[in-house]
Amino acid sequence: MDLNYDTNNIFARIIRGELPAIKVYEDEHTLAFMDIMPQMPGHLLVLPKVPAVTLYQLPDDAASGVLATIKKVGKALEQAMGVDGSSVFQHNGSYAGQTVPHLHFHLVPGPLKALKAH
Ligand code: 5GP
Repeated sequence: MDLNYDTNNIFARIIRGELPAIKVYEDEHTLAFMDIMPQMPGHLLVLPKVPAVTLYQLPDDAASGVLATIKKVGKALEQAMGVDGSSVFQHNGSYAGQTVPHLHFHLVPGPLKALKAH
């Protein structure tokens, strides 16, 4: 995967409003929407709006905003799905399984072991 940021990747286009998504939360710096191919019901994605392919490219001053959104959306997800726990994970680079080259965190209600195999 090219670690140079492609401004026309799918998630950049969703952030700009050029492609549709089922948004569940948005503020100046972050966006959360439903995954188009959920691994389990309620599968969400949380993104920083700043251009970054991997977590290692995320500017330090953007990290707290993303974490705040993960906490907010994750708690709401657990409540909405009526579960007592959820999982947060992300992939860095295609070797790790990343398919969309804009940093994103997966939030799923429940344990990772319940996920479908790719
Ligand atoms: P990755 O494998 O890169 O960590 O995860 C990418 C995720 O983005 C996958 O779970 C995939 O289903 C989701 N995805 C890919 N394209 C789209 C899209 O156009 N819209 C939405 N909402 N999700 C997408």
